[in-house]
Amino acid sequence: MKAVLVSDTIILLLALIMAVASSLMLPVACGRFLRLGGIESEPSAVPVLVAQQYKVAIVDHAEKIPSGEVPSEFVEIASQRYQVTLPWAGHRLTARVSEVQPLLVSLPRSVIDGDGSIYVTKATHRAFLEMSVMAVADGVPLLVDSGYRSVAYQKKIFEQRMVAAGDFQSISRWVAPPGYSEHMLGTAIDLSPSNWTFGGTKVEQWMEKNAFRFGFNQSYPRHSPHGFTWEPWHWRFVGDS
Ligand SMILES: [Zn+2]
Repeated sequence: MKAVLVSDTIILLLALIMAVASSLMLPVACGRFLRLGGIESEPSAVPVLVAQQYKVAIVDHAEKIPSGEVPSEFVEIASQRYQVTLPWAGHRLTARVSEVQPLLVSLPRSVIDGDGSIYVTKATHRAFLEMSVMAVADGVPLLVDSGYRSVAYQKKIFEQRMVAAGDFQSISRWVAPPGYSEHMLGTAIDLSPSNWTFGGTKVEQWMEKNAFRFGFNQSYPRHSPHGFTWEPWHWRFVGDS
């Protein structure tokens, strides 16, 4: 009798897991390439676990790292090795280019600020365009000025800034070191203008109020417990998690 009860419970749990998994298809599909902190997701085997890992992928989710316990993490830029400092240390993201890039599609010109092409994952693309239609209807068009950026591209940004002026540590106060930028996941966008003048604009207010309905979160909120600088223009698609 006991065994029957246990197996019934397992069947019920499995049914529940399948229901939850199917309702989380977007984050599951989008999160399948995420590898964080050395943990690789296994999407086809256990979709619910992947969805949970996807939530963990939100940079501001983990506990604050106590001072004096900075993980030893390094990045290499122009053949030099630099230690990654807080708030980035402990938040390295890893996503395989070979798995992210096939998911990328370009955003239409109508939502891009400037002439270049901007790529995001298919799921991000779909959700963003739905959100954009709603924003336009409210008289607040959303313009994107950055999307997917590879680790190599992020390295170039650092190299250029280090040549122009400044050292690694001071630049990394404002710019994510290569391997720490959510833009490498293809799920992050920067809205225009991607600088301090964005705060307090109608677009910012609209996003604060509505973005969550389309699965977008602010990755670096005003009061980040990790000490990340507030980036009101930076949003990340996290699905309906
Ligand atoms: Zn950004």
